[in-house]
Amino acid sequence: MQASIEKNLSQYSLKSKSSRGRVYKEPKHKIRTEFQRDRERIIHTTAFRRLEYKTQVFVNHEGDHYRTRLTHTIEVAQIARAIARSLNINEDLTEAIALAHDLGHTPFGHAGQDALNICMKSDGGFEHNIQSLRIVDKLEKRYASFPGLNLCFETREGILKKCPKKLAKELGEVGNRFINGKAPSLEAQVTNIADEIAYNNHDIDDGVRSKKISLEKLETLEIFKIQKNDILNKYPKIKKSLLLGELIKSTINLLIIDLIENTLKSIKTNRVENSEDVKNFKKLLVDFSPEIKKDSVQLKRFLNKNLYQHKDVKKMTNQANKIISELFSAYDSDINLLPTDYIKHNEKSLNGRQKRRKIADFISGMTDRYAINEHKKLYK
Ligand code: MG
Repeated sequence: MQASIEKNLSQYSLKSKSSRGRVYKEPKHKIRTEFQRDRERIIHTTAFRRLEYKTQVFVNHEGDHYRTRLTHTIEVAQIARAIARSLNINEDLTEAIALAHDLGHTPFGHAGQDALNICMKSDGGFEHNIQSLRIVDKLEKRYASFPGLNLCFETREGILKKCPKKLAKELGEVGNRFINGKAPSLEAQVTNIADEIAYNNHDIDDGVRSKKISLEKLETLEIFKIQKNDILNKYPKIKKSLLLGELIKSTINLLIIDLIENTLKSIKTNRVENSEDVKNFKKLLVDFSPEIKKDSVQLKRFLNKNLYQHKDVKKMTNQANKIISELFSAYDSDINLLPTDYIKHNEKSLNGRQKRRKIADFISGMTDRYAINEHKKLYK
């Protein structure tokens, strides 16, 4: 059954039947492929449910219609699946990586991560992507036979998007790619670009709807100017609110189509025939054409200047900094402030470094509102 589900996939895709397997051996499932099981395990985690109350750009209480870390993740999975299906690579694996890619995010988005990274500076630092792997490997506790989710090697390797060499050595086999300079699988590459397509577009959408970016200002970007003219030719009397929706829709479409065409061309010209060729290829195969890549870089710069550095967003950044660093210093000076069921088994045997990692795990797992309430309790 499993083999028949994946039998028509391209030669350069990854298949469950040739997976390097799981750390703890498990019997095969009757009907589901290994990567399907991975995807489903991720959806059932506590970390996945918490994404609903974690910041993408806007803190959860700022409005009900802005993206949260959860809706961002679902949009990434949707875009990644569309691309994977079209490239005829493994959609289940792609989706599993997409659904897990932000599990390790702290409360308050990148501001929270930066603050926690500073707190952990002398103890190995903190990075959300590495934390996502730590969650699926160790921190989720649901299964009797193993810690974490016991995911397949390919899913774990795909989740680990970046990793310094020093840490890669400590991670064992899953970190080897960074030591040997190998490229990620096509499924992982697709997820990384789908992440970029998703946030660039939904942050524009949220930025305009929050009135931090004007529609007029968007036109300074070539990609939106061209799309807008096309939409106005088709719907000369279109309402402003619908214009934004149409702009986002057509831009996502343009980016996805360009990415698929350019990637297929690149696979063909470079004679990539199997998944080993993908890994040994020195560059990323999944990429935009040079022209669209320029647009995508411009879009990122535009968002950085007009949204991420906006004074209201910066205010949240400063607040997040304060909450995270003060929570950290409170727990660091008295570990017993952490919930007893979280520390009861081994708090006495922990050295300073292990204790601070445990604190970082706890803080990064918080939702925005939990962090705010916890901070209020400790600093009233
Ligand atoms: Mg993301």
